[in-house]
Amino acid sequence: MKLYIDVEKKLGEFSLQVKADVSGERTGIFGESGSGKSTLVHLISGLMQPDKGEIVLDETCLFSSRKKINLAPEERRIAIVFQQAMLFPHMSVKKNLFYGYKRCHSENRRIKAETLIDLLKLQPLLQRGVKNLSGGEKQRVALGRAILANPRLLLMDEPLSALDDRLRFQIIPYLRSVSEEFRIPYLFISHSLTEMQLMTDHILAIKNGRCMEETTPEQLARNWMAQSPKGYLNLLRLADPVKQNGLFAYRWGKNTLLVSGGDATGESLFELSSREIILFKKHPEAISARNLLDCTVTEMFESDGRIGIVLSVNGEKLVAEIVRSAAEELHITIHSTLFAAIKASSFRMLA
Ligand code: ADP
Ligand code: MG
Repeated sequence: MKLYIDVEKKLGEFSLQVKADVSGERTGIFGESGSGKSTLVHLISGLMQPDKGEIVLDETCLFSSRKKINLAPEERRIAIVFQQAMLFPHMSVKKNLFYGYKRCHSENRRIKAETLIDLLKLQPLLQRGVKNLSGGEKQRVALGRAILANPRLLLMDEPLSALDDRLRFQIIPYLRSVSEEFRIPYLFISHSLTEMQLMTDHILAIKNGRCMEETTPEQLARNWMAQSPKGYLNLLRLADPVKQNGLFAYRWGKNTLLVSGGDATGESLFELSSREIILFKKHPEAISARNLLDCTVTEMFESDGRIGIVLSVNGEKLVAEIVRSAAEELHITIHSTLFAAIKASSFRMLA
């Protein structure tokens, strides 16, 4: 997917002025509330018209003030999933799902409804009305409806913001697998760095209606480390838990981690703040932290006066955060070998 945007739009006091050339299948638009993300979504989808400029998706010009082109939303074949599912209240789940499908030209129909219903686990819901669905179920139906419209591009405008944490992270694999299975590129809009890390490969960051930078989720998380209340959030996929003295022993690549809150089965996603990791130059004698890992420094970066230490732990990556004086006192450099201590209670299970 290639999207060229060069637009200006004034809304009351707010002015949006964005020029960007984005490509890739999983792109994020990141910015705090009020920065103009939804305005951009409206302009791309055709729900709102720019004051001037140009929008080109792949080879198709969607809007050009100079050439007087302004394709109607349905001609653009761009589907949107909003924060609130906005399902049709008087229709069943099935009718909602097939709404866009029926309006799609037969030559553009390439999504197999059965596969989609399977992927999103919607079969048991098909005959139900939409009023009593849970928030997560509603979002799955909204996503299914968007995909069944056979779009060329899917816009997701904070689709997880209205859900509680647990559900948010349960839905993310659905979002990813649907776009992968049907090869539908997406723009994922959010103000959550963790969602960006899980959903996107690169990011357009906007602030006050202006484009700040094109970056990667990893770079963005590093830049924000010092300012974020929880530092850099390491996202770890831990597998095969075994109960051990009231804790769970999880496999993390070739390592074992002891975690206090867990789940008895399978693979789970955990977050661990860069601030919860304590580094030692020498092996400490007796410590209460249940995890002591041998690691090697592979990279160091700075974020507003804090130092991020990128560690390799038997091939797995971990980012720890220390103040500059600590880095100097411990003479930490690239290739330094260190011990990282992490309490079993420092891991937070996301899904
Ligand atoms: P985001 O999605 O990043 O939170 P929005 O694109 O919704 O931001 O809004 C950007 C700014 O534009 C906000 O300050 C908002 O109040 C303002 N805005 C949005 N729509 C209108 C409108 N129709 N009239 C006036 N101001 C608007
Ligand atoms: Mg918004």
